[in-house]
Amino acid sequence: MATLRSEALILRSVDFGESDRILHLLLPDQGRLTVIAKGARRSLKRFSGTLDLFNHLSVQVEGRRRNSMARLEQARLIRGFAPLRVDPMRFALGCYLLELLDRLAPEGGVRADMQQLFSFALDALQWVAARPPDLTQRTILELRALDALGLRPELRDCVRCKREVVGEGEQVFHVAEGGPLCGTCAVSLEGLLSVHVGTLRALQQGLSLDLGVIDRLSMGPSALAEARRLVTRLQHFHVGMTLQSERFLDRLFRESGISPSPAETLSSDRFPVA
Ligand SMILES: [Zn+2]
Repeated sequence: MATLRSEALILRSVDFGESDRILHLLLPDQGRLTVIAKGARRSLKRFSGTLDLFNHLSVQVEGRRRNSMARLEQARLIRGFAPLRVDPMRFALGCYLLELLDRLAPEGGVRADMQQLFSFALDALQWVAARPPDLTQRTILELRALDALGLRPELRDCVRCKREVVGEGEQVFHVAEGGPLCGTCAVSLEGLLSVHVGTLRALQQGLSLDLGVIDRLSMGPSALAEARRLVTRLQHFHVGMTLQSERFLDRLFRESGISPSPAETLSSDRFPVA
């Protein structure tokens, strides 16, 4: 890679050595890229105020040579999403979305997919900056993040026989296969998550609505508890661990009293989940 000029979003920023900083960037044309900003902490002039989390930048990067990291040469701030830094809930949700992207965005992904991902990331931060989130919106944003990362679950048809899953009662959802199973295909119910068709429909709507109007979507407490469990399971399945920012975000939601209580969450668990 020679010199690269691009827009970029800072996903992660870590101090390195005496005076440098390592940054994980999301680029619209190639996904994630790790760069080193030499002297970033020594010279206040060179990158002044640009290397903070959430910043949308215009950057110039020198490509990596043997055994060295790509170097950030210039950075100019395009947008800083300031409200994310002053409200704890918005900050926590913003950090969580960035950490999710940092874990799951590929390096050198397909250009069209990466452009969509980049545009999702900016729209999502803009959305969070504009209003404090509630639990429904948080859930939909998480689901949309998975979708933007190419991990969209099936929410309508049985993942095995492709027939539409219908019915009033609880159905089952296979997290590893990424979708519901119909009564015929769900031979063994062990390890499956129970979910109502109405909850799947609400999540489907959350994926298809314009991001700007997802606050119009509302779910009752039990549908929301089901939706949370489903999206959390999917996220954990793909990430393979609990993200630090997720714990912090969960705690803020709990303390603010807008999280479903553990009892509520468990009441709709029909089957033990492995
Ligand atoms: Zn089936």
